[in-house]
Amino acid sequence: MDYQSLIRDIPDFPKPGIIFKDITPLLANAEALDAVIKDMAAPFKDQKIDLVVGIESRGFIFGPGVARQLGCGFAPVRKPGKLPYHTHSLTYDLEYGTDTLEIHVDAVVKDHRVLIIDDLLATGGTAEAAGKLIAKIDGIVVGFGFVIELGFLNGREKLGNTQVESLINYT
Ligand code: IMP
Repeated sequence: MDYQSLIRDIPDFPKPGIIFKDITPLLANAEALDAVIKDMAAPFKDQKIDLVVGIESRGFIFGPGVARQLGCGFAPVRKPGKLPYHTHSLTYDLEYGTDTLEIHVDAVVKDHRVLIIDDLLATGGTAEAAGKLIAKIDGIVVGFGFVIELGFLNGREKLGNTQVESLINYT
């Protein structure tokens, strides 16, 4: 499937100098949406995944579909103050300042095998933080799955030896 033709570049969004990868044309295409979910799940079919975790916010679009492909459920990882129940959190460094991710205290069962999903891997900071949060609460991070990888930013190097899969890689 030619996903690349369904992703458009938006220059200077959300800030000047950034070229934003807009996936909404892909989401609007029924055939592509079906295929993308199946293709994201495929590399993890034999990995006995217990839980898919999606990173706010576009990880919420793909995560639940991938979870059902793999026969498991879904849990959201969110920005601070968004989750209603008690949370575990992890604060990580950005280029300027810090950010925090949260997950419900009962989202991950100890030693359950977790797949982390997001739409796009850029520097890898967000995915790395999500992985650390899952590890901190005794989940096993089996892999990371993305629709898009900005390979020229080498984000996967931050994710160590864990399996990293993406459907489109801009190298
Ligand atoms: P990283 O932490 O630098 O890897 O950035 C990844 C996070 O930023 C993901 O949650 C993405 O949704 C978001 N992101 C960064 N750049 C883009 C883009 O061009 N399009 C869509 N999302 C982006």
